[in-house]
Amino acid sequence: MKEIVLRAGPGTAVQFPGRCVHCDKPASAMMPIQTARGYLARRIGVPLCAGCDLERRRLSAAEERQQKLRLLLLALLLPVLFALVLLVTPAAYSFLLRLLIAAVSAVAVGGIIWLVFQVRLPAAALPEKQAIRTAARIRHFSRGRTTFAFANPSFSARFLELNHDRVVETPSSTAS
Ligand SMILES: [Zn+2]
Repeated sequence: MKEIVLRAGPGTAVQFPGRCVHCDKPASAMMPIQTARGYLARRIGVPLCAGCDLERRRLSAAEERQQKLRLLLLALLLPVLFALVLLVTPAAYSFLLRLLIAAVSAVAVGGIIWLVFQVRLPAAALPEKQAIRTAARIRHFSRGRTTFAFANPSFSARFLELNHDRVVETPSSTAS
């Protein structure tokens, strides 16, 4: 994937072709892409056609299983954990404090379970959906610059044309 570096900070109106970033059909939807760096994140909507937008939202059987498993685990584990922590906290503490400790423990463990599944879920998607999701990426960003990469070369060329006045020349962009 060729990288395109633009002079574009948060809130800069970057121009996108009116074509699907994945398959070049006329675009009718937006797909948010984002990259996080520490506590900063850059989030931008890229154009998608109706077909790819539908595909992007469709859950594969594997994804559905993962989501059900996550709910099941949370529903089974958290009440047990809550009760256990309540039992093992010292009786010298006030009941309210023990309730609080049990609730915080349950929320923390629930959060970890949720995150673990959040990380596993994308791999359960169908290859077509994964291809759509990775068709556009924000590779890097800083306050004044954003580096884009597109899997589709014709989209990449049109994007470059539309934003030529913002392009930052880099060794990788002049080499190819
Ligand atoms: Zn498409």
